[in-house]
Amino acid sequence: MGPVGHDLTKSEWEGSDLFRNTSKLFVHATQQMHLDPNIIERLKWPKRAFVVSVPIRLDDNSIRTFIGYRVQHNMTLGPAKGGVRYHPDVNLSETTALAMLMTFKCAVVGLPLGGAKGGIRCDPTKMSRNELQRLTRRYTSEIAHLIGPTKDIPAPDIGTDQQTMAWMMDTFSQEIGFTVPDVVTGKPIEIGGSLGRTDATGRGVVYCIMEAAKYLDMPLDETTTVVVQGFGKVGASAARKMAKIGCKVIAISDVAGGICNSKGLDLDALCDYIEKNKTSEGFTEGDRVTNEELLELQCDILIPAAVSNQITKHNADKIKCKIIAEGANGPTNIDADLIINDKNIFVIPDIVANAGGVTVSYFEWVQGIQKLFWSEKEVNNRLWNIMSDTFRRVVHTAEEHKIDMRTAAYISGISKLSRAMLLRGFWP
Ligand code: GLU
Repeated sequence: MGPVGHDLTKSEWEGSDLFRNTSKLFVHATQQMHLDPNIIERLKWPKRAFVVSVPIRLDDNSIRTFIGYRVQHNMTLGPAKGGVRYHPDVNLSETTALAMLMTFKCAVVGLPLGGAKGGIRCDPTKMSRNELQRLTRRYTSEIAHLIGPTKDIPAPDIGTDQQTMAWMMDTFSQEIGFTVPDVVTGKPIEIGGSLGRTDATGRGVVYCIMEAAKYLDMPLDETTTVVVQGFGKVGASAARKMAKIGCKVIAISDVAGGICNSKGLDLDALCDYIEKNKTSEGFTEGDRVTNEELLELQCDILIPAAVSNQITKHNADKIKCKIIAEGANGPTNIDADLIINDKNIFVIPDIVANAGGVTVSYFEWVQGIQKLFWSEKEVNNRLWNIMSDTFRRVVHTAEEHKIDMRTAAYISGISKLSRAMLLRGFWP
């Protein structure tokens, strides 16, 4: 018997549904492409994973310790890239899966970046602005040695925003002794952010839908009905853009549940209402539906833009749409994929559909390094070129191998990455 490596299948990395699902998708894709088994072995696990204590003083003067993570899955193609999530469900395994998805996302889009993800297990909706600032600064200081413009570049994700990035950038700069804007992306414009970054993910989702409609020869007009799960940064901007190009958004959901109006929701009124009341609870221009009912509504385009593991083998059979455009990371699990593919629903997988965010993050990084900033029009044009090119490349792979879009996206990303890995070689 040869030397036995540590049995990583029993590691903490394995613990979440999202990790198991992402690993299965990865292995499934590699089986179709005769990939060097050594590459498979290397990509199944992250390069590095850090767990840090984040003790902060709460407003009531007590000290509370939160748990924070930063996982760098792969850095072959360039510095690691990925968001920071503040959510009660954050854990090492889920963060690792999200980092893995970032690796494949950057690779399929063709960005010179690797994959990472970070997060803190907390409920940001129950914390004051001061507490969130202390939390962010302490977390940044704990991971400061890992991140940097040429090492690993955090960005917003669920529960974090431009302000979080401003605090991260400031804390990192204080530690180093000079201003380093390029350590994060998704910053406010005033301190080096890019125009078009805030709504880039939603915009990218819509660009993919436009390409998919063209490909499927399907109209995008007032007869096209859209359902959006999740009305955060991604869902709200995707919904508004779908309405802007003339489609009818008939249902959305947020933490308060779903709201549906077959005549089309008045999104301006809804956004104003949510701005004033924090959630859609009490908005009367539609019927209330549960999150489960929302996903099962008859529509043309379903945009899951909330969290992972929403479309499973338990509800996949009841989904009644023509296109699923995954604004969220990992909303559909692998068992559900089989059912959805059988039903001929066209899936634009997460690593393609929601890649607009990291693509404009990349633009922000490039502009920051050059100290030369682009107009919003230029950002959006470049985003369109990259999204439509990626979409068409993945469709081409799907047709060539006669496989579904998700597997095709994985194959397209993994082949680019594996070529780079083989060229760089293995050391020692
Ligand atoms: N959090 C976003 C994602 O999941 C953006 C990451 C980034 O811009 O680095 O793709």
